[in-house]
Amino acid sequence: MKMSNLLLPTLREVPADAEITSHKLMLRAAMVRKLGSGIYSYLPLGLRVLQKVEQIIREEMNAAGAQELLMPALLPAEAYQASGRWEVFGPSMFKLKDRYERDYCLGPTHEELFTQTVIDNVKSYKEYPMTLYQIQTKYRDEARPRFGVIRSREFVMKDAYSFDTTDAGLDESYKKMYDAYNRIFTRLGLDFTVVDADSGAMGGSGSQEFMVKSPVGEDGIAYCDSCGYAANYEKAACVPAPKPSNEGDFNIEKIHTPNVHTIEELVEFMGAEAYNFAKTIIYKADDKYIAAMVRGDREINEVKLKNLVGCIDDVELAEPFMVKQITNAEVGFAGPVGLDIPVYVDKEVEMMKNFIIGANETDMHYKNVNIGKDFTPAMVADIRVIEEGDACPKCGKPVKTAQGIEVGHIFKLGTKYSKALGLTFQDEDGQSKVVTMGCYGIGVTRCLSAAVEQNNDENGIIWPVAIAPFEAIVIPVNAKNEEQVNEAERIYNELKTAGIDALLDDRNERPGVKFKDADLIGIPVRIVVGKRIGEGMVEYKERTAESSTDKTVDEAMKDVIEFVRNNK
Ligand code: ATP
Ligand code: MG
Repeated sequence: MKMSNLLLPTLREVPADAEITSHKLMLRAAMVRKLGSGIYSYLPLGLRVLQKVEQIIREEMNAAGAQELLMPALLPAEAYQASGRWEVFGPSMFKLKDRYERDYCLGPTHEELFTQTVIDNVKSYKEYPMTLYQIQTKYRDEARPRFGVIRSREFVMKDAYSFDTTDAGLDESYKKMYDAYNRIFTRLGLDFTVVDADSGAMGGSGSQEFMVKSPVGEDGIAYCDSCGYAANYEKAACVPAPKPSNEGDFNIEKIHTPNVHTIEELVEFMGAEAYNFAKTIIYKADDKYIAAMVRGDREINEVKLKNLVGCIDDVELAEPFMVKQITNAEVGFAGPVGLDIPVYVDKEVEMMKNFIIGANETDMHYKNVNIGKDFTPAMVADIRVIEEGDACPKCGKPVKTAQGIEVGHIFKLGTKYSKALGLTFQDEDGQSKVVTMGCYGIGVTRCLSAAVEQNNDENGIIWPVAIAPFEAIVIPVNAKNEEQVNEAERIYNELKTAGIDALLDDRNERPGVKFKDADLIGIPVRIVVGKRIGEGMVEYKERTAESSTDKTVDEAMKDVIEFVRNNK
């Protein structure tokens, strides 16, 4: 491709509403353009990257025996109503009506449709096991679309679904996808970790996520270098770590704590430690209100809480006016004593004695509180967030924590959808049984951002060779020098003949502009044709190298070809 023919509106300025590096760079490097909240177009360079990512995914899925098909994005409501997800998705689902007032949605994920397709088209149990997949556009009306294509409302997903007649078969299909995913993310040049994940609302028996470690990742992950344990915070089981309590046989006592709202203020006021206090938070769980308690130095894990309560929507902090109504106090003084909503208590709180809580009265707290004597929990369970240094739930050594971008998710669904929709088969003995399923997703467009987030410097993107929009760029320094221009074009043509995806910067621009653009758009290797071309010499530079090296034309071309082949 010649750059003079390329739509490449690179930006020197950092766009105002882009918060993170990958979002800024993808806009500046003219990969994507924003059309609305969470809605993006792919310009030619971005599309090339997207297509390369898709191709790698396709190759590995096909190699693992999965078959590609393509479903619509505009979906009739029936299958989602049958599975219950027409309601479960809530406001995240884009719903619409046609001219006859019939209900449709824009597909957020396709378990129901693949199940229906198999019901309609598979006639014999002998056709199983079977794994089907598509690379297709998904729609989710995310509460907080952000970070460019990391969390958008329209995005490309690779979704796959396996169909087996036995649990052992499902284990095998799952393992094949696990292996394929490892190959895919390795080929994409991502540095990733596989973690145990929460099965949540999807039901099912096992689930893992592929996480790209990054400070901008929205998921917390806990991992153990000693035994290899790794889990999403949502799943990571917490080992209770009791702290010293105020031992003794005391009675509950109300204390006046004027202008004390936060744990820090309370610690200061009482001369106690944060772990001598238990905090009570009021949540909305579907249409009822509940309270959750963790130790003062801990955080509530809202996913664990949701699973414990068994609500459909995510739990949400109660509105301040409801907190006031429920506790009869200003926000900040909630406590379990005398509350008439269920109180869910973390295991560590159960181990505390004579602790401090809010008194459901403005400016008041209780001290010397004891569970059983002063209040009764609805349930005691692990509802806290794991922390750096906590004991590993597998081996007991201290865990480490990091943030991760979830790029893939594999899931043993079991019979949730096949039962709901009636996907059964007759076995050899003529008995009717339910098909067991797995589902496997990759955030294709999110992978682009994750790759940029991990591979960049102050000058721009550094694309991994396998997904770079172009593998090499040839730049004549002086667009008016015929010899430089001709030689550059010859080198470019030869590279293309050798199978290199090459770009020629034939624009009539200053050299500084050309170098800046080449770095910004992240082309992995470049050849610069300048003054020394008369002696048959050019400059060779890999994107990550400090400086360039003078080489003969032949040597430089040979090195480009080798570099690309070795790094793809
Ligand atoms: P998240 O927890 O990030 O919201 P999810 O668990 O809801 O994601 P899945 O239903 O497992 O997502 O979808 C499969 C993959 O699709 C995810 O692993 C992620 O990479 C990608 N994905 C999900 N939502 C989005 C989105 N809004 N924008 C871009 N990619 C997404
Ligand atoms: Mg997921």
